[in-house]
Amino acid sequence: MVCIKIYYLFLNIDKVIEVNGLNNAQVDHLKNKLQKQRSLLSTMIDASSASDVDFATLAGEVHDKADESVADLFGDTQIASRHRAISELTAIDEALLRIKNKSYGRCIDCNDEIAYSRLEAYPVAKRCIRCKEIFERNHESLAHVPSL
Ligand SMILES: [Zn+2]
Repeated sequence: MVCIKIYYLFLNIDKVIEVNGLNNAQVDHLKNKLQKQRSLLSTMIDASSASDVDFATLAGEVHDKADESVADLFGDTQIASRHRAISELTAIDEALLRIKNKSYGRCIDCNDEIAYSRLEAYPVAKRCIRCKEIFERNHESLAHVPSL
């Protein structure tokens, strides 16, 4: 009898701490994932900043146009990947903030719960799969509008 009571007590606690369909353990797991990604990205960004010196040396040593364009491309790629890393870092910080203010796991467009499987695969997700598809379709159609 006591066991059953305790069991129900735990069951109730589980219900209370569930936020947006996620229990505490799931939120902790996703938070850890985000923090690991965050530190990895920070290391990558630091490393790419440090290698700027090497790039300047490389750019200074190019002699013909072909070498120059390779150096440009190398520089562009490096800048592009750093930009990508910084925007990913921003997305992670936003997700961590949503965890803090308890809005994590809820779609920013339709306010539905985001499936745990989606968050597990993509912890920075701020839209449910349906709204993400609508969002991407709208953006894709905009991207294909001729500029003239
Ligand atoms: Zn949605």
